[in-house]
Amino acid sequence: MKRSRVLVGLVGGIFCVALMSLYRMLDLMQGAELQHSVNSPVLQVDQELSHLQQKIDRLEHLLSDNNRLVATLRNSLIHRKASWEPKRGAANVSSDTNHSQADELPGCRLAGKMKDGAVGVQLLDVYDLLPFDNLDGGAWKQGFEIRYHGNEWDKQPLEIFLVPHSHNDPGWLKTFDLYYQDQTRHILNNMLIKLSEDHRKKMIWAEVSFFSKWWNDIDDQKREMVKRLVGAGQLELVTGGWVMADEANSHYFALLDQLIEGHQWIQRHLGVKPSSGWAVDPFGHSPSMTYLLKGAGLSNMVIQRVHYAVKKHFAQQQTLEFQWRQSWDSTPRSDITCHMMPFYSYDVPHTCGPNPSVCCQFDFHRLPGGRVFCPWRIPPKPITEQNIQERALLLLDQYRQKSRLFRSPVLLVPLGDDFRFVESSEWDAQFHNYQKLFDYFDQHPKLHVKAQFGTLSDYFQALQRRLSAAGTTLPTLRGDFFTYADRDDHYWSGYFTSRPFYKHMDRMLEATLRATEILFTLTLAEMRRFSGNGRVVADFPAREHFQRMTEGRRNLALFQHHDAVTGTARDPVVVDYGTRLFRSIMNLRQVLQSSAHWLLLLDKSIYHHDQSKPFLQMDDVISAQDALPQKTPLVLSDEPRPLIIFNPTEQLRTSVITIVVDSLDARVVDAETGQPMAAQISAVWTEPSRASTEAFQFSFVAELPPLSLVVYHVSKASAGSSHRAKYIFHRRGNTPTVHTKHFQVSHLTGPDADAPLSLSNKHLQIWSSLETGLLQKLRLQSGLVRKVQIQFLWYGTRTGADRSGAYLFLPGEEGAQLYSSSDPPLVRVSKGPIFSDITSCYQHFTHTVRLLHLDGHAGRSLEISNTVDIRSEKNRELVMRLASDVANGNRFFSDLNGFQMQQRRTLAKLPLQANFYPMSSSSFLQDSASRLTLLSAQSQAVASLRPGELEVVLDRRLQQDDNRGLGQGVTDNKLTANFFQLLLEERRGGTQEVGGASVDHLSLLAHLTSLSLCHPPVTMVTQSNSKLPKLHPFRPLSSSLPCDIHLLNMRTLEDAQEAGSPSQEAALLLHRKGFDCSAAPKPALKCTWSVHEEVNLDDLFSPLQFRSVRHSGLTLLREDDHDESARQQQPSHMTRLRPMEISAFRVEID
Ligand SMILES: [Zn+2]
Repeated sequence: MKRSRVLVGLVGGIFCVALMSLYRMLDLMQGAELQHSVNSPVLQVDQELSHLQQKIDRLEHLLSDNNRLVATLRNSLIHRKASWEPKRGAANVSSDTNHSQADELPGCRLAGKMKDGAVGVQLLDVYDLLPFDNLDGGAWKQGFEIRYHGNEWDKQPLEIFLVPHSHNDPGWLKTFDLYYQDQTRHILNNMLIKLSEDHRKKMIWAEVSFFSKWWNDIDDQKREMVKRLVGAGQLELVTGGWVMADEANSHYFALLDQLIEGHQWIQRHLGVKPSSGWAVDPFGHSPSMTYLLKGAGLSNMVIQRVHYAVKKHFAQQQTLEFQWRQSWDSTPRSDITCHMMPFYSYDVPHTCGPNPSVCCQFDFHRLPGGRVFCPWRIPPKPITEQNIQERALLLLDQYRQKSRLFRSPVLLVPLGDDFRFVESSEWDAQFHNYQKLFDYFDQHPKLHVKAQFGTLSDYFQALQRRLSAAGTTLPTLRGDFFTYADRDDHYWSGYFTSRPFYKHMDRMLEATLRATEILFTLTLAEMRRFSGNGRVVADFPAREHFQRMTEGRRNLALFQHHDAVTGTARDPVVVDYGTRLFRSIMNLRQVLQSSAHWLLLLDKSIYHHDQSKPFLQMDDVISAQDALPQKTPLVLSDEPRPLIIFNPTEQLRTSVITIVVDSLDARVVDAETGQPMAAQISAVWTEPSRASTEAFQFSFVAELPPLSLVVYHVSKASAGSSHRAKYIFHRRGNTPTVHTKHFQVSHLTGPDADAPLSLSNKHLQIWSSLETGLLQKLRLQSGLVRKVQIQFLWYGTRTGADRSGAYLFLPGEEGAQLYSSSDPPLVRVSKGPIFSDITSCYQHFTHTVRLLHLDGHAGRSLEISNTVDIRSEKNRELVMRLASDVANGNRFFSDLNGFQMQQRRTLAKLPLQANFYPMSSSSFLQDSASRLTLLSAQSQAVASLRPGELEVVLDRRLQQDDNRGLGQGVTDNKLTANFFQLLLEERRGGTQEVGGASVDHLSLLAHLTSLSLCHPPVTMVTQSNSKLPKLHPFRPLSSSLPCDIHLLNMRTLEDAQEAGSPSQEAALLLHRKGFDCSAAPKPALKCTWSVHEEVNLDDLFSPLQFRSVRHSGLTLLREDDHDESARQQQPSHMTRLRPMEISAFRVEID
């Protein structure tokens, strides 16, 4: 113990000395600054401020180095302490841990650390500061007049990189395939010819989906040419994702998966690794994406679609280039150098400088006689000997103005637009004319300018060189860039919800893909162990399955494109995406079923694969790309029928499984123990008050170990033996006629007819309005009561030229109007031993809240489901609002890509539509005593427009285009389902700040609830009349993972030699969550956690054994393997999992 005290002293000492020296340095620097003299007073102040800023940046850097040092020391201290502690079943501590110990957990420690105040600019504070006055800036309409003297570059010449690019949407107005046929293949074919002609010509390419398709079409000779161009630095693959992904609606699983797919392809075929990111078209930017890019080994990135007022402010501050840091990171580990484009768009008129009418004259694709022209009515001219001086100086003036917005004399100038460089003549027009201008600059050294074609990496290398030569560091920034506005009050918050049917389908595919990846990987490992010779079972179609999975990965990846999951493509393109998602779900189900088949067989020798007669089937069918899943009624007999449940989560869970059966009486037993499970029979309602006489819902409680396949036997039971749900029906003024033969129905009469409806379980009680069936109040077992009223509302759109569409939300001035219908809703209450619920049937939606009568965490939240159909409406958006008495002020939290929580501030100075944010999985409101969390299974728009309120947009139907190029409204609405979990938690010791600190996390309970919501159990049945072999359950793990560690994926990698085949290696992706500890559920959660950052992978996944473990970058590139650590880690696979961080390993399972 003495040694640890010495160490504490040492750490403290170092920290104090470092802090004192930092203060002293700051003092000295300020003194030096004041003695400096400059000509103009304004310039003087400006320069002083900018110098001071630079010094502060440097200090910041030193401080973070210092933090890192202290963190390292602290960690080694913790590690030492741990090694002296008596060993208690690995490093895991049981759930009995009390609250004070909970604060010590890494996930909480992290949040605590950040609440102390973090370095760098927080975008939330910028929002508080900005007036959002939208002043006319002159030539640069959304900016200001930029001045320069002309001698700024005398000592350090202006260095310009003109970066040719062509933005290829993998689907928007045309489908992916049609774009490829009509445009993309010509662009890439010409690229090969033109770049090979002249080594000075360069180009960048972002979308690997298109690039790989083209690669399949070209011969070996051309492939060699491509590799030569890449090797010579003429062609650069930027970002390297399958698509340029949307950053608002996409979930981090899919964001990372499309990046893995792209990077793996690039490494395999081109042997390189992307180093710079390029995201010029996604409608707002998320730090979750930057986290993934940094983790994948990128060091720089470019973003474009940022609110024009933020751009202006950053331009004024010269902070358009910055180190983007994760809000939760107290170290610079997650920093990535980011360049934000200053102007309106990524096209040529908005990239050479502030004046689009001038810049457009340098888009030589718009020369007179072509198909495109300059809307500013001054056409480009070909560069000739006669006009070159005038042209060169005109262009240089724009370059110089633009350069004044940045801290270094290196300038990035993109040259391109959507689907550019299709024709050979366009290449020549751009390259020849620009080369003449560059040559002119070279011939006139007094201009102090060097211009050339370049790639992104050329630019960033020059930038880093110039910055370090000048001793300049870039400022640090935290936060995100939502919600985007490109002009006026045109906020792009509509696409957070547009086409919600497909946003939900996206997440269904995501869950199916993850479940299949994990089960397939485990199956291959089991097979290799079983065969004893490292081979998979001969009859198992491993290669075909791997190709199905590859297709599934690529279709999910394609859908992350910024016109796909966003819901901003044309109707036929949406159908194309939908068909791909649908087909992938079907194909992946086949892989899942045949993997489960082999794993479950007691006698593996009888395994036989027959694609036409699968042994297992899902318990539901999806009939088409635009249909919701339907449960297939199961025919029961006295013979037990096997029911197989796969738990795709890494946690032991108690779940309610519901199947549809043909019998009113059924029983289910655990096939292994013969133990009967608690069950309930409920009606299948074919209409709101008409119960099916042939089909019934059979629900039972299943205990599902982590990643297990459990077998149950379900059979017909003796008449009257099953618990049947009881129903109460109510409709104001018009008692409904209920058609049911088998269920007890009552109507509320007498004194009951005035009392609110109430449901309760062990953990919570709810009250709903009798008249509407809608929730009014929640009460926790502890006694905490919160008003939580569910309401439904309509938004309309404004009148005039600019109206809501696929991208934009432009509501009418009246705001939201309470949903009302001439007919009062039918309210149906069901009560049973397994669950109870209240359903309200309205014309446009059916809304259900359900309580499970379970002890585990599934019983602590309220399930909310809506089936929405607004096809009868015009220009309307349906909203579900929770109105509570939580005193959150104007602050609430919404998630970014399911990866992290971001604080939001509702600002009165912004229009209503600006206060809507993306919510891909969660959102919460809190005050010092309670937190109300809404978890969702799909992405949609969320807002908290008044204290205590939280509203989500469920569907939108808009008749017109919103002038962003799509050329149509959104009128392909469907019957759409959406699912939520509502969680009320008591807080103790939470932050006193109203509404919460700038960094906050979900609680562990919320994480677990979200995991269950997004990854439901998969139910499979055997063919009814087949003669059944003996089955046994599959339980790969002896215990749950610690509940803050999420198995993001276990993904089989492609064989390095044999293309299209699975290798023995898998990508193991673990995400350690940060969590809030001020909500401490009582009784405590039944899960384990580790108090250390160091964990042993063998312990974590016991009894699975890893033959090899290589810590790697997030996209699993071989060159990122930390080989040394792999060797050192043998044979015990200790590794460090930091809170909030995703860790990637290449593993081989023994
Ligand atoms: Zn685009």
